[in-house]
This record gives sequence, structure tokens and C-alpha cells, in this order.
Amino acid sequence: MLSNTAIHMLQHGHQQEYKIIKPLRKLILVGKKLDKLRAGKIYLKSMELNTALTESEEFMRGHFNLHKIPFLDIENYNESLTKEYDSATEVISDYEKHLKKINPYDLPIVLVEEEHRYAEITETGLNCQDIEVISKIRIAFWQLLLSNTITNYTPSIITHEITHTQIDSHKGATKSLYNHEIIPIFVQFVENFEKSEDLNEIDEVFRLIDISDLIDSLRKYYKRRVSYTKDELFDLTKYLESTLKAFMLFEIYANSSINKQKDIFADIQKIFNGEMIVEELLEKNKVTLKESSKLLQKKYL
Ligand SMILES: [Zn+2]
Repeated sequence: MLSNTAIHMLQHGHQQEYKIIKPLRKLILVGKKLDKLRAGKIYLKSMELNTALTESEEFMRGHFNLHKIPFLDIENYNESLTKEYDSATEVISDYEKHLKKINPYDLPIVLVEEEHRYAEITETGLNCQDIEVISKIRIAFWQLLLSNTITNYTPSIITHEITHTQIDSHKGATKSLYNHEIIPIFVQFVENFEKSEDLNEIDEVFRLIDISDLIDSLRKYYKRRVSYTKDELFDLTKYLESTLKAFMLFEIYANSSINKQKDIFADIQKIFNGEMIVEELLEKNKVTLKESSKLLQKKYL
């Protein structure tokens, strides 16, 4: 039986790598300091969904050429799944026939009762354990699930999810699972940075508190105070590593010349086009887990 992480890695074309970050003492100390940010007050204004969508789309189209994305109505497709197939090729070709190409902002939105930062794009793969099928199948998108509490922070949440669609529709666009969240978090940072000092600060505080929580969860796991499934541990590692690196990339961006900033966005466009992978952008900007942890210590310890 393949684990959820294994299936995700095969579907996304990530290299098979299983690791769990063990936070070192200094990082744990930073985490404890960052936890104090929680006490600060954060003011968000409520917003209409349509306004949030328009703001996100304006930001994204102002910076990028977005490509259409594969869409699959899974409920519709499941009806045809009662068929018997002879080979993996047959399964894949039948699946491909059901895919439609849509504008990412036309993805159906489902509002759900969750805290205001919640969002998720549901991907459709195939519910199967066949490695050949899973690794060859194209990722398609089904719905954008969004918290029903919509605020002036929501446009950037939508932007984050749309960024995923642009990257994840190319298999192997991110080599490592643990880098999967960097570009969406980074693009979200830039949108808030361009909008206002307040939003920029709020976004940074949210992510710093995330870092603090992730470090704390991993610390408790190593102290044997809590137990997690393997899938949960890989997920904690993914979010910690990605958020740290996104912070470093944003720090580089915010302190760079306009030309250098344009350069970073041009590289992200190449990733969207399937002409570059996330790891090449990281290498170009010397963003590593070690350097990003050091940066955090320098800034907050
Ligand atoms: Zn994400």
C-alpha cells in the first residue's frame, strides 16, 4: 500500500525522498521568540468574494502570463470509473479524454466553514495504487475550497492557490516535495508587500507564527511528547522548509534593485511555462535550508 506522501510525490513528479527536519537548539530558541508575536493584535477588514478574486487576478495578470489549467469534474468522471481497463495506458487515455482546459480563475469555488486562512485546491488524480498510472497521469484541478470568512487578506490566499495551479500542472516542476510551498508563499508575500505596509506585516507575522508552531511540533515529536503519522511528519517538514526558504527569497527580493526583482519574476514565469524548475531558481539565489535558518536567527534571535 502506497502512503499518501508516496502518491503525492509520484503524481507531482517529485524525487522520492523521505526526511524529517530535526530543529537544532538555536532554531528552537528562535521559534520560542516568534511565538510572542501571537500576542499582537491583527486587524483585517471583511471583503466581498468578487472583490477578493478581482484583486488577486489583477495582481497575477499584472505580473504573469497565466496558462490554462487541466480541469476535471471528478463527480462526473467517477461514473465512468465502473469500467474495466486492460492496461495503464487505457486508464490514462480515458482520464485524459475527460480533462478540460480552463482559465485558473474559472475554477469552481466552494466556501467552507473554516478559519479565515484556510484554502485548498483539490487535485484529481486517480484513486489507485498502480505506480505507472499515478506517475504518468496529468494532475488536474477540481475545486478551490476557501474559508467563508473573507477579508482583505483573502486576495493573497487566492493568489497562493492559483500559483500552485500554474506550477503543479507541470509534473516535476518542483524536484523536492519539501520545496513545494516556496513559490506560492513567496508570491503571496510580494502581493501583500505591494499593497500596503500593514498587509505585508500581517502576512509576515502569520508565517512567522507558522514557523514557530512547526518548530514546536517537531521539537515535541523528537522529545516523544507527541506522536504523528509519517505523512504528518513529512508535511510538517515540507511546510517548515518551504516557509523558511520563502522568507529568505522574499528578503532577497525586498532588498533588491527593480531589475533584480524583475529577474526573479521572469524566472517564476519560466517555472509557470515549464521551462525552469523551482530548484534552479533557488540555486541562482543561493537559497538553502541552512542559509534561511541562519537568516531567521540573525533577524529574530
Ligand atoms: Zn500551498
